[in-house]
Amino acid sequence: MNGYAGKILRVNLTTGEIRKEPYPENVARDLLGGRGLGIYILWNEVPAGADPLGPENKLIASTGILSGLLVPGAGKMDWACKSPQTGGYASANVGGHLTSELKYAGYDAIILEGISPRPVYLFIDDDKVELRDAADLWGKGSMTVEEILKKRLGEDFQIATIGPGGENLVKYACITTDYGRQAGRGGVGAVMGSKKVKAVAVHGTQTVPVADPARFWQLAHEMFAACKASPGLELWQRYGTAGVPTWANEIGAFPTRNFQQGTFEEHAGLDGKVMRERIVLTDKGCACCPCPCGKYSYTKKYGVFVEGPEYETSALLGGNVALGDIEDVAYANYLCDELGIDTISAGNAIAFAMECYEKEILNREQTGGVELRFGNPQAVFTMIERIARREGLGDLLAEGVKVAAEKIGQGSYDWAIQVKGMEQSGYDTHAAPAMLLAYMTADVGAHHNRAWAITYDIQVGREKVSEDKVAKVIELQHVRPLFDVMGACRLQWIELSIDVTSYAPIVAAITGVERSWEDLLKISERVWNYTRMYWFREVEGFGREWDYPPPRFYKEEATGGATAGKKATWEDAMQLLDWYYAQRGWDQNGHPTEAKLAELGLKAYLK
Ligand code: SF4
Repeated sequence: MNGYAGKILRVNLTTGEIRKEPYPENVARDLLGGRGLGIYILWNEVPAGADPLGPENKLIASTGILSGLLVPGAGKMDWACKSPQTGGYASANVGGHLTSELKYAGYDAIILEGISPRPVYLFIDDDKVELRDAADLWGKGSMTVEEILKKRLGEDFQIATIGPGGENLVKYACITTDYGRQAGRGGVGAVMGSKKVKAVAVHGTQTVPVADPARFWQLAHEMFAACKASPGLELWQRYGTAGVPTWANEIGAFPTRNFQQGTFEEHAGLDGKVMRERIVLTDKGCACCPCPCGKYSYTKKYGVFVEGPEYETSALLGGNVALGDIEDVAYANYLCDELGIDTISAGNAIAFAMECYEKEILNREQTGGVELRFGNPQAVFTMIERIARREGLGDLLAEGVKVAAEKIGQGSYDWAIQVKGMEQSGYDTHAAPAMLLAYMTADVGAHHNRAWAITYDIQVGREKVSEDKVAKVIELQHVRPLFDVMGACRLQWIELSIDVTSYAPIVAAITGVERSWEDLLKISERVWNYTRMYWFREVEGFGREWDYPPPRFYKEEATGGATAGKKATWEDAMQLLDWYYAQRGWDQNGHPTEAKLAELGLKAYLK
């Protein structure tokens, strides 16, 4: 099959059996790959009701049709499983160099199934595939293990690891690659840890077949030329997402003190220019990227190297816990990366606990002696360690803010900032209805990457609640996740403004199958509805209530800054949901209708 390595590597960790299987042609035709393959395997191979941390769950690492080819930003990979955090669908996207290396080794995807009786790492060197003992690596940090394996196997190996957070089944443990790139959300690292897999190491020397190489080269050159000519290139490469805090702060969307407001008085210390001057050593990018947005940094204050902090980390481990010194945030970032937990969820969990402490719902005995107040960096560092190691209060916070609030009670559910059990990423939504809806309806929980709709809120009227905002959220939920299906980064489109429809002809040149941009969007919509049906299958009573927003945004006004006194209303949130379901062709409980499933050709996939 052109564009595919053509094989899936299936690793049964219980028995040690390793099989190479052909890539399913129907998936290539109807779901293309990436997260399309992930949901297909989950639906067909993980029995309904499976324990996310048990042997029946599977962890699927899948490349896309663009992976391994010279297309701008084609270095993205999808990790999917049944989420131990939400009980529903998890898909975590990560950049770096692993996705192309896997394809060069001859595999489009890896399926990890069962549970190993002892810690192992998966070694892949083209056709040679082995499970190797990882007893000496267990307990070590993610980046430490990456360094050890690179020394042991060679720099040409690309490596994904988990840290102690994954080993200890923290519900938002991540998988790390490239010394600081994270498949961060939904607990994919906990699932890898439950399987006793410490790392995956890959080296490959093969090529990826392309249907029409001449056409491909021409189109690829045009796409790179468009990136190079973009007026946005210089700023984006210089600051990456670290340029966002100042903008987010100005518009009152920078999460501050557990999303009590969207303006942080010390935000200037987190600004991209300050970060560049104080800690950045060099730029760092994924495979085939013409605009490396990663910043590799060194903090003298703490003596550690770290990739970042990127925007989400500055938001959740900066403003949200009230740290305004970029070196403090960089160290918190380093700890999360090395210990293998998601900075977004960790920042939320610690901010939630800080608010409980300041409201005297948690006392000093319960925090294990930690003065858990906003703005205390040592408290943040200690809690990151305790979460990753599940010590004291950290054990409860390792379950996520929804579970923590249910246990703590006393009204704390109102300030547990989550949807579907996943903590909200870095935009305050007191006064941003489109972004609020994007969080409510994202197919993994409150994550921004499915629809970054806040710019549309700003563009058409901040507080306006309208059907066009709903249409924009749905449009974004098809365009942006399509990149996760194709295995490419979306930022060349968003930040460099390259023509998004230019991906259709290059996919056609690679595969030899002519598909229009609308055809690709239809695949994305199919995948979106497939994942929605997965939630209905896996979560008892799933439906409309699972799309409700965090109470803070409609019960409490923002306490200060650019959006002081503003809040969403319950009625508006419900109106947005009504419109959303109607526009999607779903019923008012949020279930795709039979007609929608038939239109998308999904019924055959749901048996
Ligand atoms: Fe990776 Fe950033 Fe380049 Fe995207 S823009 S491919 S995330 S380095």
